[in-house]
Amino acid sequence: RESIHAHAQVFEAMDDSYLRERASDIRDLGRRILTHLQSGSPDKQDYPAETILVGDEVSAVQLAEVPKDRLVGIVAASGSSSSHVAILARAMGVPAVMGVTDLPVNRINDRELVIDGYRGRVYVSPAASVKVEYERLADEERALTAEAETVRGLPPESTDGVAFPLFLNTGLVHETGNHNSEEFAGIGLYRTELPFMVRDRFPAESVQVLNYRRVLEAFAPRPVTLRTLDIGGDKPLPYFPVVEQNPFLGWRGVRISLDHPEIFLTQVRAMLRAAVDLDNLRIMLPMITGVAEVDELKLLLTRACDELEEEGYAVRMPPIGVMVEVPSAVFMIEELARRVDFISVGTNDLTQYLLAVDRNNTRVAGLYDDLHPTVLRALEQVVRGARLFNRPVGICGELAGNPMATALLMGLGVESLSMSAGSLMKVKWVVRS
Ligand code: PEP
Ligand code: MG
Repeated sequence: RESIHAHAQVFEAMDDSYLRERASDIRDLGRRILTHLQSGSPDKQDYPAETILVGDEVSAVQLAEVPKDRLVGIVAASGSSSSHVAILARAMGVPAVMGVTDLPVNRINDRELVIDGYRGRVYVSPAASVKVEYERLADEERALTAEAETVRGLPPESTDGVAFPLFLNTGLVHETGNHNSEEFAGIGLYRTELPFMVRDRFPAESVQVLNYRRVLEAFAPRPVTLRTLDIGGDKPLPYFPVVEQNPFLGWRGVRISLDHPEIFLTQVRAMLRAAVDLDNLRIMLPMITGVAEVDELKLLLTRACDELEEEGYAVRMPPIGVMVEVPSAVFMIEELARRVDFISVGTNDLTQYLLAVDRNNTRVAGLYDDLHPTVLRALEQVVRGARLFNRPVGICGELAGNPMATALLMGLGVESLSMSAGSLMKVKWVVRS
């Protein structure tokens, strides 16, 4: 694999556009040969009943390879609590410890581990006293969860009767069906990257239609917010290699969409087609920096809609929203709000950009704080600006699922929260208190 990868790099480095343009084809070819060579290989992983996945780097794709009923924990040498793998782990209700430096990965295999996702600790071959203490903590956790469960089926509203809708974040894994979706007001953030990540090429429009249709149908008539592709940063596509010094300040989200309108058009066409007769689609644009991007993407959306109508599809223009996750969007909130139908704050990226703390960098993970006064002031400004145009503001970053932040966010004037399934009952319990 390394050697094929290296060859592809060499082709890329040659200043020969013929080869450069074909680098991804060559990689693809390499992958196919490898798959062929490896098929039937004897070292297929055998996952024990209680698997803790340990690695220098753990990817979403690797996670998906472990049978879901066997995965009980994740330990990674890289990343932090706001990395996408950590978000995914939270969504699956699996404890994860990220950024464990000096992790002796090779010596951990087959050993018993206690992992503490709250404190970020890993005990290898723990002493009996450690095990007893952690059994006690786990019991306490179960009791808390049971207490929060008492609000199941009750509406999320404050004691003075104000409704505070709670939405689901999904898409990172095939989580749908794993939880009681009736509890949610809809989907507040569907991350569309996964179907792009697990393939060896861009999925065709027809493939995407089926995927989005499944999600839209599962939640209809409740609204489903599909986010357009947000690759780049820590979500690269194997067949669309981008080499950058600073990927999080680089080519990601709508920046790629604007440079490759054909990718964007295919995706939104698929979304619009999937929503025919359902009418519960909302489209959300990630990584918006300024108004020109919104104007241009809205033109592309209109074009997709017009073309589909001409082709005979009964499509309707859905509500369009932007994510506020780049600091400039906070300061441009009024201009953005007048152009769109809703606003959703992505506190994961907003925090990393406001505080200049890479959300994947273990060394600065201690500085990452989505309750920093700066983040709260930004939220206040967003709510104030959006209100001038009567645009609802929600939060879809991990902060939305933190029950300790719920009262504060309600007080700031945020109107809805969108979170992983596992956080719902605890947050609703706070709302109802
Ligand atoms: C965010 O940035 O807060 C967000 C919700 O998007 P993602 O975590 O996918 O970047
Ligand atoms: Mg983001």
